[in-house]
Amino acid sequence: MVEYAYMLTLSSPVSALIRLKPQIIDGLQKLGIHTVQDLLYHLPTRYADESIYTSIATLREGEDATIRARITKLVAKKGWKSKMTMTEGVVEDVSGSMRVVWFNQPYLSNMLHMGQIVELTGKVTIYQDKPTMTNPTLRDHDTLPIDSHDSLFANDTESKGALIPVYPETRGVSSEWLHHSIMRALSLLEDIPDHIPAPLLKQYSLPSLKNAFIYIHSPKCKDDATKARKRFAFDEILTINLARQKERAELKKSQAYSIDTTTLDKQWFIDRFPFPLTGAQQTALTQILHDLEQDTPMSRLLEGDVGSGKTAVAAVATYATVMNRPTSNGKKQTFGNLQVAYMAPTEILATQHFESFIEFFRNSGISIALLTGSGARKFPTKVASSRTPWTSISKPQLKKWIKNGEIPIVIGTHALIQKSLEFKHLALTIIDEQHRFGLAQRKGLAKKDAHFPHLLSMTATPIPRTLALTIYGDLDLSVLDELPKGRKWPETNIIPVAKREEVYTAIRNQLKMGKQLYVICPRIDTADPTNEKAVQAKSVTEEARRLAQDVFPEYTIGTLHSKMTPSEKDTVMMSFKAQEIDILVATSVVEVGVNVPNATVMIIEGAERFGLSQLHQLRGRVMRSSDQPYCYLFTSGDKDRKSERTAERLTHFVKAKSGFELAEYDLQMRGTGELTGLKQSGISDIGMEALRNPKLVEAARESAKKLIEEDSALAHYPLLLDRVLIFQKIHLE
Ligand code: ADP
Ligand code: MG
Repeated sequence: MVEYAYMLTLSSPVSALIRLKPQIIDGLQKLGIHTVQDLLYHLPTRYADESIYTSIATLREGEDATIRARITKLVAKKGWKSKMTMTEGVVEDVSGSMRVVWFNQPYLSNMLHMGQIVELTGKVTIYQDKPTMTNPTLRDHDTLPIDSHDSLFANDTESKGALIPVYPETRGVSSEWLHHSIMRALSLLEDIPDHIPAPLLKQYSLPSLKNAFIYIHSPKCKDDATKARKRFAFDEILTINLARQKERAELKKSQAYSIDTTTLDKQWFIDRFPFPLTGAQQTALTQILHDLEQDTPMSRLLEGDVGSGKTAVAAVATYATVMNRPTSNGKKQTFGNLQVAYMAPTEILATQHFESFIEFFRNSGISIALLTGSGARKFPTKVASSRTPWTSISKPQLKKWIKNGEIPIVIGTHALIQKSLEFKHLALTIIDEQHRFGLAQRKGLAKKDAHFPHLLSMTATPIPRTLALTIYGDLDLSVLDELPKGRKWPETNIIPVAKREEVYTAIRNQLKMGKQLYVICPRIDTADPTNEKAVQAKSVTEEARRLAQDVFPEYTIGTLHSKMTPSEKDTVMMSFKAQEIDILVATSVVEVGVNVPNATVMIIEGAERFGLSQLHQLRGRVMRSSDQPYCYLFTSGDKDRKSERTAERLTHFVKAKSGFELAEYDLQMRGTGELTGLKQSGISDIGMEALRNPKLVEAARESAKKLIEEDSALAHYPLLLDRVLIFQKIHLE
C-alpha cells in the first residue's frame, strides 16, 4: 500500500497506512478505530518508564527487581503432595530468560497467555543456574512495551528512561503495534489542520494539534505528555460546550408561548398545598416564571436533593401555564388552555404525580390525564359511580382529546413522546429525573405552528458545578438547596459485622411499630462462585430468601430489581406503598423518586460498592416523613488495602449533610465515572479528568460562548463545526 502513503489524510482508512492482518482488522473494529484520525486519537492511558526495568541477564541473587518480558512457556499444575495449584512459566526479554512460579493463584492461568508481555516485580533467586521469581506481583494486560531495540525509539543513548506509551489494547492489537502505526502516520501526514483557532491556542499556551499528537504519542519527557493532555482535555470540553451553546443559540431563535404570570392568582394555588413553600422553592419558582414569560423557550434544570419538593414547583409552573389561553392568528383566544406534558421515567412515578396533581387541581375545573404503557386515565370523572376521582379511558380517545386541546395537563411515561401523540398547544414540557432531553426530542414535541415548548428538567442527582456547566451547558440552573421544615435527617451508621444481630433487633422494633424497611443489595442474583470478589457481594434473591427464613420470618418480603418488567416493578412498588409488603429487598433501582413516607428504615449491603452520591440518593428514600429515619451500612468486610480508604469514604458519607457535598467529593476522589448517568455520556477519560479542573472548564466554556456569540453557526470555523457535529452525532443525544 506504500504507493498511497504520500496522499495519506486524517480520513484515510488505517489500511492505507499499514498492511492489516485479519486479527488486527477485528481488533481495530473492537477499539472503534477505522480511520487514521481514529488511530491518532487513540491516546495512551499511561507511560511505562523504561528506567525502572532490570534486564534479565543482569539479575542478581537476592535482588528486588522489576522486569518486563514476554511469556514463552506457561503451565498450570497441582502440587502432588499439597494439592496446591501452581502456575509455572518462563519469560524472556532481549537479554535472557527467567523462570517464574506462582503458588495458589489458580486464576492466573486464565489471565495470562503465551506471548503476552508482563511486568513482574519480586525477589530474585537463582535455581539451577537460572534466575527465578516466586510469587512476583504482576502488572496485567495493559503493560505493553516496546523492546529497547525498536528503531522508533531512535538513538539508543536516550532509550534508557524514555516514556513508553501504553494504550488501551485488545487481542491482536498491542501497544507496540499501535505505537508503531501511529508514529508511521505522524511521519507520513503532511499536515494536520488544527480545528482550534490559533488565537485560542496562543491564549492558553496550548500546542498545535500536530505537536500535541507527537507529544502524547512519543513524549521526550513527562512535561510533553502533560502539555498534550491539557490540549486534548481543553479540546474536548470546548467541543462539548460548543455543542451545548450552539443548541442553546438555535433554541433562542425559536418561538415559544409567552406565559402571562402576572395577572393570575398564583397565591390561590400555592395556598392549596398543605405546607408553605420553602425559600428555595420560591426562588426557583421566580426564576421559572420569569423564563416562562419570555417568548423564547425556557431551558432550565431544577436540581434538588431527594425530597426537596420539586413536584410542587412543577405544579405551580403547570398551573401558570394552563391558566393561559392559546393565541391564534396573533390574538389571544377567549377559550381553551395552553397544554403541559409532564414526563416521568416509570409508570409508578407517573401515577404518583397524577395523584398529587389531582390533589393540587381538585375543583379547579382543569382536566388532567395519565398516559402510560398500560393505559390511560382522566380526571375529573363524569361517572357518578366511580370510586376514584378519575376514570379509565381508551388511549385513542385520550389522544383525540389531547390533539384537540381539551385536556390541558398530560402526565405520563415515555409514551408522551411517541409520534402518534399530538398536542394542540403544548407550551411546557416537564421532565422528571432525566437529565438530558435533547433538542431532537424537543423538536419532535413541537407543533407545526412553530411554537417550541418551554422545558423544565428536574433531577435529584447532585451534579458538581463544573459538570453542570459543561454537560448541561445548554440549561439554566435552579437549585433547591433547602429541605422542607420538619424533615428529619437519617441517623446513618456503619455497622461492624459483629453488630449485625443487634441492628436486626432494633429494626424489628421499628417494623413492630408499623414502619417499613428497604434492604439494598449490590447484585441481583447469586454470584458466580468462581469469582472470589463477587461472592462477597450480597444478591437480592439470596438476601430476600435469607431474611425470610432466618431473620424476619414474620414479615412479608418483596424484591425489586432491573431484570423485572416495568409492570412487575410497579406491582411490587404499589404493594409496598400500600403496606402489603413490609420489607423491600432491592438493587439500586429504588433510587429514583418513589415516595413511600412510611418506609423509614434502610439497610445498605456492600455499601463500599456504591458511589457516595448514589448512597445519598438511596438514603433519600427514607427521608420522606417527619418520623426519625435510620440508615444502616454494611460493608463486605474484605480486609485488604482498600478497606481503609473505603472506611474513610463511608465516614464522609455518614457526616455529609448534602448531596452536592458528596458529589464534589466523589468527583475529586473517584473521578466522574462514579457519578450517576455519566458512564454513558461518551466523554473520554481525558475529558472526565478535565472536568475535575474548574479553571480549564471555565476557560473552555468562556471560549465556546465567545465563539458562538460571534458566529452561532460556526460558519467561519468549518473544522470546528465538523468536530461539534461528530460529537453531537455520537454522544449525549
Ligand atoms: P422531590 O424533590 O424528591 O421530587 P417531592 O416533590 O416528591 O420531592 O416532595 C417530597 C415530599 O415533600 C412530598 O410529600 C411533598 O408533598 C412534600 N413537600 C414538598 N414541598 C414541601 C414543603 N415546602 N414543606 C413541606 N413538605 C413539602
Ligand atoms: Mg420527584
